[in-house]
Amino acid sequence: MNRKESIALYQEAKRFLPGGVNSPVRAFLSVNDTPFYVKKGKGSYLFDVDGNAFLDYVASWGAIILGHADDGVINEVKNALEDGTSFGTCHPYEIEMAKLITDAFPSIEMMRLTNSGTEATMSAIRLARGFSEKNGIIKFRGCYHGHVDSLLVKAGSGLATFGVPDSKGIPGDLAKHTYVADFNNLDTVRTIINRNRDIACMIIEPVMGNMGVVLPEKGFLEGMQEICRQERILLIYDEVITGFRVTYGGAQHLYGIDPDITCLGKIIGGGFPIGAFGGKREIMERVAPLGDIYQAGTLSGNPIAVRAGIYVLKYLKEHTGVYEFMGKRMDGLKKDILHIAKIYEIPYRIHSIAGMFTGFFSRSDVYDYESAYRSDRVMYEKFFKLMLEEGIFFAPSPFEASFLTLSHGEKEMIKTLETYERVFERLKTLS
Ligand SMILES: *Cc1c(COP(=O)(O)O)cnc(C)c1O
Repeated sequence: MNRKESIALYQEAKRFLPGGVNSPVRAFLSVNDTPFYVKKGKGSYLFDVDGNAFLDYVASWGAIILGHADDGVINEVKNALEDGTSFGTCHPYEIEMAKLITDAFPSIEMMRLTNSGTEATMSAIRLARGFSEKNGIIKFRGCYHGHVDSLLVKAGSGLATFGVPDSKGIPGDLAKHTYVADFNNLDTVRTIINRNRDIACMIIEPVMGNMGVVLPEKGFLEGMQEICRQERILLIYDEVITGFRVTYGGAQHLYGIDPDITCLGKIIGGGFPIGAFGGKREIMERVAPLGDIYQAGTLSGNPIAVRAGIYVLKYLKEHTGVYEFMGKRMDGLKKDILHIAKIYEIPYRIHSIAGMFTGFFSRSDVYDYESAYRSDRVMYEKFFKLMLEEGIFFAPSPFEASFLTLSHGEKEMIKTLETYERVFERLKTLS
């Protein structure tokens, strides 16, 4: 595959952008590769500047669900553009969006729009701290909630210790308020709570997407909710990926959980920058200007993003079968891929929910950060490169979710399977 033009652009980009990119994973460093430069996207495909087509399983990290350049979204955005790109003041579509989201998520009685998922989680944390008048946060190892100071924290040595910053530039004095527990392990949560009475909230991706897809074990989410209620700790669900992705009402609907605050993003912007946080009325009434917890945004509720998002949410609402459809398609793909893996004796397991999935090169179960980290990263790098060479784009890191869109049709499933067969055959001879 010729990627000459992309390589030249990457060299140029590195002069102007740190690492050549505007967000770190895009540099393909985890897989020792270099990025391709996209000229356009359509349906389930991305087309690069060298004329290559890639079947896209990254789907803008889950933000795209109908497919790239969906005709309906494009049409809505064209209409919206004609009316102006930003008002800095109120417009009726904000209310329509809020109605759609509060209808879909009964736990959200009031909400506010932001411009990114990071802003949503950052604001949710401030809200939880202000409301509870406590400082501590519990997060789960491997969960990613955007690049918020307090949430960009990994576990210190030993289980259930307080966090150390994941990045330079985060004061230890701030990071020390973040405690890190293990996904699917309520004991680590209890240990933290027993040692600290100053916990404002717990934040979690109810289905982990940022360590690769890791599903909650039976009783984990329920137990967590129970602990939060007993201890009067606010429960924050980060559904930036899972909201409108695993089903219309998100993971909380699937698992029957009633969180205090929910964060959304990605899909709700229809491919435009957006985020949202919302929750119980009593809590949300504390947000400025109604309450004493400040939060704001010049471009928040941007009319283009909101109208694109409304179009997508309405589509998903009106086509109730889409999640079952994607789930079935996923199950079929999974079964066939695992069959191929068996033939070529590749240790491979696929975690999936609706159209969201990760394939781990691992001989043992994956249920948290540690177990995910034990999967074979060298193998993933080879897999990534071979797939890309064959025109299929999976995430440039072994610890990410992949996504089906509604544009990933039967033809794409066949292409994917045929490519898996060739790639796994190569992997067998390489290993
Ligand atoms: C992507 C993501 C975020 C951050 O959203 P941005 O729009 O990238 O700031 C937060 N939480 C989760 C679970 C995410 O996947």
